[in-house]
Amino acid sequence: MVGDVGIGASAGEQRVSRSEARVDLDWLAERIDYRRFQECVHCGLCTASCPTYLETGDENDSPRGRIYLMRSVVDGRLALSDPVRTHLDRCLDCRACESACPSGVQYGRLIEPFKVAMQTRSEGKSGRPSWLLRLILHHVFPYAGRVRVALAPARLLQRLGLFERAEAAGLLNLLPGTLRRLAAMLPDGLQTGERLPEVLPPIGPRRARVAFFTGCVADAMYPATHAATARVLQRNGCEVVVPRGQVCCGAIHYHSGAEAPALQMARRNLAAFDPEAFDAIIVNAAGCGAMLKDYDHLLPASERPAAERFVAKVKDVHEFLIELGPVPPAGRLPLRLTYHDACHLCHGQQIRTAPRQLLGMIPGVELVPLEETEICCGAAGTYNLTQPDMSRRLGERKVDRIVETGAACVATGNVGCIIQIDKIARQRGCGIEVVHPMDLLDRAYRAGDAVAGPARPLAQAEELVGSAG
Ligand code: SF4
Ligand code: SF4
Repeated sequence: MVGDVGIGASAGEQRVSRSEARVDLDWLAERIDYRRFQECVHCGLCTASCPTYLETGDENDSPRGRIYLMRSVVDGRLALSDPVRTHLDRCLDCRACESACPSGVQYGRLIEPFKVAMQTRSEGKSGRPSWLLRLILHHVFPYAGRVRVALAPARLLQRLGLFERAEAAGLLNLLPGTLRRLAAMLPDGLQTGERLPEVLPPIGPRRARVAFFTGCVADAMYPATHAATARVLQRNGCEVVVPRGQVCCGAIHYHSGAEAPALQMARRNLAAFDPEAFDAIIVNAAGCGAMLKDYDHLLPASERPAAERFVAKVKDVHEFLIELGPVPPAGRLPLRLTYHDACHLCHGQQIRTAPRQLLGMIPGVELVPLEETEICCGAAGTYNLTQPDMSRRLGERKVDRIVETGAACVATGNVGCIIQIDKIARQRGCGIEVVHPMDLLDRAYRAGDAVAGPARPLAQAEELVGSAG
């Protein structure tokens, strides 16, 4: 290990007292099974898959390097100095290294508690979100209603055509950095749409009864994509229930160090979704899906049986449809399309082929491969707010690869990726449309109706279309 972290080959013997460690080692010992560190055999096969290592070429920014740094801190060989913290903060938690690791190292189970400790149980403040960002992350983003209210002025300005003018005149630069970055991330033409009804009937014979997890930011910013997802499920014979007691999955809190409220949100979701009442609990956002599927590891042992029953029913919408046997759409969409693998879908949930199979069913779609498809686009939850420089570099890299495909449209199964790629493609004037696979599938079903007339009764969600589709 070399570089700026203050540990070298001869430093293996160096001891750091508990008071000098700058992080609560007892808290870490309770949450990290030390054997997870030992599973890493330092082979380095993960480094080529790590976005930050590809960008910086610094071993301390690689999975192997970060495991070494974390273990050195836990062993008392290294303090959590600012340089060490910087390398760990820079990790996207994209888990590409897990997919690449032949030894099965569960890197997420190391970095996630470590990041919580850095946020809440450590000295030094580099990498900690500012008070304004914490306010937004903890008190606005996780609540769809508050996000809707916060977005109302931007929606109005966009409708009046004033938002673009303010952007072009550089007025957004007058905002504090956090708000400026948030404003720049807003899609052109924010989607509009009502909340989904509590129950949506199947179209045709009922094949399944599913609960739909709608989340927070996605629910407020992409209501048309949620409506499209519900319609696709209906067309596949699903009765769709949207439980009213559900809340944010807790990922925003958890990944920004607020563990207790994250666990409270997990408990509220366990109460809102009765796993016995549904064939599946459907989620269309990769980040939320990965979090929901992790509840059984996050909650204390006494709550684990309930969490396991819940987790057993959680399905990403793509995996669910493929397992159910999807109804092929009749409508034709002549489109050169590429697909970006959202990290929390391909690495977090190991779902790669199902979205491609669904997109490949659409008549007229030419699905072309994307180089570096499994390399993170830099969105990574709130990373684009906490690490804007690296986030931008990775976003630019992703858009470069997309442009090289010659595709007119890119599909991806995570709202954060859609926001990030759309923002950079728009700023570069690439003219590439960025959508969720459910938007396209829904569009193809509807195009089929336009040709042949709706073969089946229209459903309630048909009324809820916003600007997508
Ligand atoms: S995390 Fe896995 S792939 Fe990377 S160095 Fe360790 S054992 Fe090798
Ligand atoms: S989670 Fe992603 S960014 Fe972090 S070490 Fe692994 S591959 Fe690199």
